[in-house]
Amino acid sequence: MKVRADENRCQGHGLCNMTAPDVFDLSDEDGHVVVRTPEVPPDLEDDAVRGAEACPELALSVTDE
Ligand code: SF4
Repeated sequence: MKVRADENRCQGHGLCNMTAPDVFDLSDEDGHVVVRTPEVPPDLEDDAVRGAEACPELALSVTDE
């Protein structure tokens, strides 16, 4: 599983980080999302999906690659 962020959509709400802090971090500079695990390990897949679904800007996508 891979997770990607569209930085143009991210508005820095931080809901992804609150939902799945092991997968999504926030930049100290602008507060926008930083993906910690672009290649998601199996034990974090559920968190990655939940975090992506929490984003109100639809900035996060998860793919089964
Ligand atoms: S929830 Fe969406 S808009 Fe908010 S920081 Fe995460 S990716 Fe950005």
